[in-house]
Order: sequence, then C-alpha cells, then structure tokens
Amino acid sequence: MKVLKFGGTSVANAKNISLVKNIIADLKSDKTVVVVSALGGITDLILKTAALASQQDKSYMTSLKEIEDRHLVTIKELIPIQSQSKVLSKVKSELNTLETLLEGAFLIGEITPKLSDKIVSYGELLSSYIISEYFISEGIDTAYADSRELIKTNSTYGKAAVNFERTNHNISNFLTNCSNSTAVMGGFIASSVNGDSTTLGRGGSDYTAAIIANAGNAEALEIWTDVSGMYTANPRIVKQAMAIPKISYEEAMELSHFGAKVLYPPTIQPVLSKGISILIKNTFDPHAPGTLITKNKNGEGKTVRGISHVENIALISLEGPGMVGITGISKRFFEVLSTAGISVVMITQASSEHSICIGVDNHDADHAVQVINDAFNVEISQGKIKTVVAEKDLAIIALVGDNMKSHQGLSGKMFSTLGKNNVNIRAIAQGASERNISAVILKEDVKKALNTLHEEFFEENVKQLNLFVMGVGNVGAKFLNQILTQKKYLKEKLKLSIRVIGISNSRTMVFDEDGIALKNWPELLAKGQKADKELFFETVNKLNFRNSIFVDNTASQEVSETYNSYLRNSISVVTCNKIACSSEYSNYQELKDLARQYNAPFLFETNVGAGLPIIDTLKHLVASGDKILKIQAVLSGSLNFVFNNFNDTTTFHDVVKQAQEEGYTEPDPTIDLSGVDVMRKILILARESGNVLDIEDIQNDSFLPKESLETNNNADFFKTLTKHEESFQEMYRKAVEEDSKLKYVAQYENGKASVGLQRIPRGHDFYNLEGSDNIVLFYTERYPDQPMIIKGAGAGADVTASGIFADIVRIGNF
Ligand code: ADP
Ligand code: ASP
Ligand code: MG
Repeated sequence: MKVLKFGGTSVANAKNISLVKNIIADLKSDKTVVVVSALGGITDLILKTAALASQQDKSYMTSLKEIEDRHLVTIKELIPIQSQSKVLSKVKSELNTLETLLEGAFLIGEITPKLSDKIVSYGELLSSYIISEYFISEGIDTAYADSRELIKTNSTYGKAAVNFERTNHNISNFLTNCSNSTAVMGGFIASSVNGDSTTLGRGGSDYTAAIIANAGNAEALEIWTDVSGMYTANPRIVKQAMAIPKISYEEAMELSHFGAKVLYPPTIQPVLSKGISILIKNTFDPHAPGTLITKNKNGEGKTVRGISHVENIALISLEGPGMVGITGISKRFFEVLSTAGISVVMITQASSEHSICIGVDNHDADHAVQVINDAFNVEISQGKIKTVVAEKDLAIIALVGDNMKSHQGLSGKMFSTLGKNNVNIRAIAQGASERNISAVILKEDVKKALNTLHEEFFEENVKQLNLFVMGVGNVGAKFLNQILTQKKYLKEKLKLSIRVIGISNSRTMVFDEDGIALKNWPELLAKGQKADKELFFETVNKLNFRNSIFVDNTASQEVSETYNSYLRNSISVVTCNKIACSSEYSNYQELKDLARQYNAPFLFETNVGAGLPIIDTLKHLVASGDKILKIQAVLSGSLNFVFNNFNDTTTFHDVVKQAQEEGYTEPDPTIDLSGVDVMRKILILARESGNVLDIEDIQNDSFLPKESLETNNNADFFKTLTKHEESFQEMYRKAVEEDSKLKYVAQYENGKASVGLQRIPRGHDFYNLEGSDNIVLFYTERYPDQPMIIKGAGAGADVTASGIFADIVRIGNF
C-alpha cells in the first residue's frame, strides 16, 4: 500500500487535478490512499470569510460566493456532463450548510474555535469528494473516505491531538474492508470523540497522510507538492537553492521545525518508528527525483544539509540581579508558558545563569509577557527580576545537518559570514543534538542572511556582488560595458557573479532586483524614475542585498558626501571621484574608519594614475611593514600631454586648447594647469603612506602667471596665456639649453609634499615619459636606492573603468 498526499497547489484547479489523476493512473501499487488538501488558497479564504462574518461584515457573502464559484467551476471543468448533476447537487448542499454556519457566526457576531474548525473543514471535505468523483469518472476504481470518521482527536480545536489507538484501529478496519484499489480522503480534518469536526493545524494534510501510512503499514509515503523536494533553503527566497536528494528523518524534522513549510513538522513522527520512508515529489515535474527522507544517517557528504528560517518571532528574556538565588526558576518559567499553551520555538541560556531567553511566535508574545509577569510578580516587586518585555518582529535562521557536531568551526563560519554582511544577531542557540545552530536576527535581514549563508555553505564559493552605479559618463559607460563582456569569465574563473542592480545619472535612475539587463542599460535608464541621490541610497539600503557595492563614477561633491551613509550600512564604496579622499583629513579618516568598523571596503584606486595599481601597491608595502621614504611622480596625464607637445614651433595657448578639446584636461583647464589636480593626488598618496596632511600643507610653485590663476572663466584664462606666451617660451628655452624636458612633478618626502614644474635631465626615469603616461617612484626602506617604479597610461576612460573594475574584483576576494 502506498499513501500519496497532494497539497493545495496540486489540487488548485481542474488542470492541476488532472495532473494528479495522471500520476495516480501511472502508479504501480496494489492499493493507494490519496490524501488531498483543500483547493489551493481555499483554507485561507474560508478563514477570512468566517472572520468577516464574525465581525458582522456583510462582505463575507462576496467571499463565500468566491468559494462557491471556485468549486463549481472546478466540477464543471473536470467531470463529464452526464455525471455532473449528482456531484453538483451534493456540493451545493454542502455549500448551503456552510452558508448556514457562516450566517450563524454573522448573527451572533462571534466565532468559537469549535465553530471555526467546523467551517474550515469544508475545504478538504469538498476537495476530497470532488476528486473522488472525478477519479471514478476517469475509470479509476475509487472509494471516498470521510477522514472525520477515521481520525479521532481530543477537542483542542485548531490543532487537535490524535488519539492513535482509536485512529489506528479505524484506519486498519477501513483498509481491510475497502475493496477498491484507490481511496481518496481529505487531509487536515478529523473529529473529536464527541463527533465534532477538528483540525490538525495549518499544513496538517501532510500529517494526515503520515497517520494513514503508519496505521496501514504503507510501503511508502509520498508528499506531492509544488517544488521538487526539500531544498537547501526556501527556493522562493534563495534562487540558487537545490533539492536535497537524501536526508535523515531528524534533519528533515529540524528543517521543518525551523520553517521549511514543504513538510508539516509533526509528519515524521508517525512514520519514524516503522521506518517508512517519505518521498517529496513535484506534481508539476513528476520526473524530478525529489527528496527521500529515511532513517539513514548521512555518514558522509555535506555537513550542513539545509538552512531554514521562521519569521514572526519574538524574543523574551527573563533576567535580573537576583535570579541566581531563586530556586526552580526555569521550571516555573516553562511551566507557566506550557499552562498558557504557548509553544517555545527556541531557548537560549546565557552561561552566567543570569538570564533565560526564549523565542515564541509573535502572536503569543503579549500573552506570554503577561503570564510571566504575573507568575513572577513577587520577585519583580522585590527587584530580583526585571519586568519582562517582548522584542517582536524577529526571525530565526538555522543551519541543519546530522554531521555538524563532528565539524569544528561551523558556527564561527556562520557568524562571521553574517557579520561581514552586517546582519545583527540578537541571540544564538545550539541544541543539545548539535544538529542545528540557530540565530535570531531582524526580520528585514532574512533574505540577505539566507542568501549569504547559502552562498557560503552550498555554492562552491561563487560569490555574488550587487552593484549600484552612479554616473554613466565616459568612465561609467565603459565600466558597464566591461562588466557585460567579462561576466562569464568572472563567474567561471574567479567565481564572482556580478549583477548591476541600480544605475543613475544626474537625470534618471533605474533599479532591477534581478539585475539590470546590461545590453539595454541606456534605454532602461532613460525610462527610469527621476534621479535623487538620497532616494538612491535609501533604495540600496532597503534592498539589503548581500555584498552591495556603491560605485561613484561622477566628479560630484554632493555624491561624495553620501559615502558615509553607504559605509555605515555595510555597503562598500568604490570611487574614481577624488573629492572625498582629498577633502579635510578628518573626513578622509572618518570614511576609512567607517569602512573598517562596518566591514565595508572603501576603495579608490583610480584616484591616482587611473587604472595603474598605485594605491594598492602602496597599501601592500605599508601593510607588509615597509616604510615609505620618498615618492616622486608625474601624475597628471593632462600636463604631461601639454609639455610633451609644447615647443618653439607651437604656442602654449594652442597646446592647452588642443588638450582641452581632446578631453585630456578637466572642463575647467585651470584645475589641471594650476596643479590642484596633482596636489590632490600626492595628498592621497601621502595619506595612504600614513601621514596626516591637508591640501594647504602642500607646497605649490605654480608655473602659471598670477594673472592666469586669478581668472574666473575659460575665455579670460586663455587670453592670459597668449599674453604671457613669451614667459612660457622662456621656460622651454631653458629646458632645451640644459638638455632636459619640462615635467610637472609631485614629490613627497619626510612628511612634506610639493608639486611644481621641473627640468628633468636626460637619463632620468621621467625623461622619456610619453603622451599622457604617469609614473611613480617609491623609495622605501626596502627599495632605498633603486625605487619601485609603476608606469603606464594614467588617464582615459578605458583604463579608469578597468581600475574601478579591479577594485570591484578586490572586494569580491575580500
Ligand atoms: P502544499 O500546499 O503542497 O502542502 P506548501 O506550500 O505547504 O505546499 O509547501 C511547499 C512550499 O514550501 C514551497 O512552495 C516553498 O515555498 C516552501 N518552502 C519553504 N522552505 C522550503 C524548503 N527548504 N524546501 C522546499 N520548499 C520550501
Ligand atoms: N488546507 C490546510 C491548510 O491550508 C491543510 C493543508 O493544506 O495541509 O493549512
Ligand atoms: Mg503543506
């Protein structure tokens, strides 16, 4: 004999029920019991209707009509016309009784638990009857069984306890006397010894099926649902979750206790002692292997079998200075809760014995607080115990696996993974079985926590990075295209999965939680909502994705002022914008501190030398204990371009104009020509070498005439260049006379930094610097005479974009 249970979605409508029929028709079993749920969503709908009726809200009638229609439509679509009338009249008569019961609730404006169970039982009563008649019409030799006559319980309405002696007896009698090959019955419903309808708890159809399997000594119990088995995490929240092929009873029980809804937790109990295995299968993909739950312990393989979570948890702590002196305190505490019928989902006890902390369902929290405060009234008034309060809207997240106890370091890994993603842990519990480690976290962190833990324990190290990109000018656009072309390589070779979730320019912004299709980003962005920096941050924060990175490709002061909000929320920041790192020292320091404190990297490699690994190298030198003695560098691609092209056959004015037109200078060329841009860069290098320095501390001997520096628009500026052409030609002549070239050099030594134009003699490392290249010489304790040299293209959108990319990859490996 086999028992097959089909859940709500599997029997939600005529089309799905016909799939169920195909599964039954294909079965090779001498006898089959089919346990069905109510049509998907009907239990919730009946409960809602009953609540409306009891509140004397007439709209209960509309909802009742919906219930009626769902059933009548299903019958008309399933059952051939010639057999319909019998089924329709029986179902209509049942619906009339349901209507009478609801009217009663409406009139008295109340609904008792007893009446509620009676009303809600119609879901399974109707579905099982309709399905049995459909099977008969399809030629399957079917008997209908009324579960209420077989399963006997006490009168705890809503979640009644089964009287196994009577139930087992009834079921075996039924099976012995039933000559049909197939029997169909409703799950979830039962009746008390007095004959009143009862129910076994929400999701209880699984339990009904297990009770039948046990009493009938079934060879197998199959739970048919809408997913292909028990997954490594809830597949609706973790997209990468996988079906677990095999799992032990204990593991399955633990996962379902901690929220894996696919199996109602009490289901395992009845089949456990007889060793009947449970197979979880997908009605909509019957060939998928599913999950086999057996008594076999999993001797090998994964230590962590699955991750589950329960939402709507409240924490209640009993604590106080006098707790140690009070005898039997735990006993009293738990007795009070048990008498009040409150189930404790989780217990943690601090080793100090100064507190007991429990997790209960949100619904029970106020009640629990009240009974505990009443019970410890005396101790509270004596100040030995503090008045108890509940902290609501939390969630429990649990790692489950039989072999976890024999592996050290799992909890360390769990908590450091959560910590890195700024998931705040409110409490921790590890059961004596060590089959689970659970943590209480904020409800809004659930999605992030599940996904990060899943990645850590199940996804062979593929790490997902979620990017939020602001600024899509030259650099930003190149950057997005680089991601698009490198995506596959990064996933395969570096195990990094990069998704861009948000993009903004100064006009519009766009978000897509599943990742923006990068092929079409310009169109998607153009159609986006109005850009707003604060809202952008709020959205990033609210989405609460793991490994979130904010990428600033702008040159905006305002954008740089938002970095601290990101870092404070553990969102990493990557920027090519120099403003933040060259602002007052206190601001730079604060950002670095926040990054450390919130475990969120703050990277700005492209602030100096575009894509050249200058800052990263400097960091490695310092971190490995080296000391920076001197830095000499040519750090301005624009000035290098200007002085490489300026000679006695051109004018200074024309060369600067050309540099501006070809995009080598900032839109305002004075930022480059005055040396401010280079000052910012050497300032950042000096700070990264460990010095406290501000922009005013940098000496700048400008080669520009005072008059040029004092202009306040481009036209005036260029006029002054023409006016002073002779002095520029003089600079050039002097350099030629000394067989040297003009280079704009930044220097840092002994805590002092300076920038200025220098005549570089032939043979010097700077002499042959071409085009817009940059060069940096690091003189350190380890490289005192022959400096470490980094040289290459130091400006341009392509190399800058690749530098940002490199920072992202660094975060991926963090
Ligand atoms: P049924 O109506 O068939 O009884 P349920 O809705 O009760 O189905 O249970 C199946 C659902 O359980 C899935 O659709 C999924 O959303 C949820 N679920 C939660 N955790 C898990 C898990 N670890 N594995 C599989 N499903 C899970
Ligand atoms: N129909 C009931 C419920 O929705 C029982 C079940 O489907 O398992 O809770
Ligand atoms: Mg279920």
